Amino acid sequence: MARTRIYTPEEMVLRNRAKVKRWRERNHDKNWESSLRWRRENPERWKAIRRKSNHKRNVELRTNVIALLGGKCVHCGYDKDPRAFQIDHINGGGIRERKALGSYTKFAKHVLAVNGDGYQLLCANCNQIKRFENKEDFKYKDEATITEA
Ligand SMILES: [Zn+2]
Repeated sequence: MARTRIYTPEEMVLRNRAKVKRWRERNHDKNWESSLRWRRENPERWKAIRRKSNHKRNVELRTNVIALLGGKCVHCGYDKDPRAFQIDHINGGGIRERKALGSYTKFAKHVLAVNGDGYQLLCANCNQIKRFENKEDFKYKDEATITEA
């Protein structure tokens, strides 16, 4: 009689994972149905999972966009904290374009798709100053209400 091999706990985890994977591949529809059922029965947990994976995807997208646009403010050279970076539409109209694209994800994908053409990286300070100087904030409001500081 062949001696039974003793598996370490790590090996058992890997073997079980492989077994589950094989079962899922062989029972695709069944797996899909049970997945759907779980999502319907656990809407809050499913929402939390989605939120987490969407966040992860957006962080990755943003990291790629920042790298594509040079990783620093084109105006002052700031490169410390990526949270302070803003993706600026060189010719303005960024807000309208963003609205047309619908979401941050779509916007970031668009910037990557056009290889960053027409966009630049600005820090929050430089972007705000540019917006004031170009009156980008007021572009779609009644021109008569704009007063010079
Ligand atoms: Zn700057």
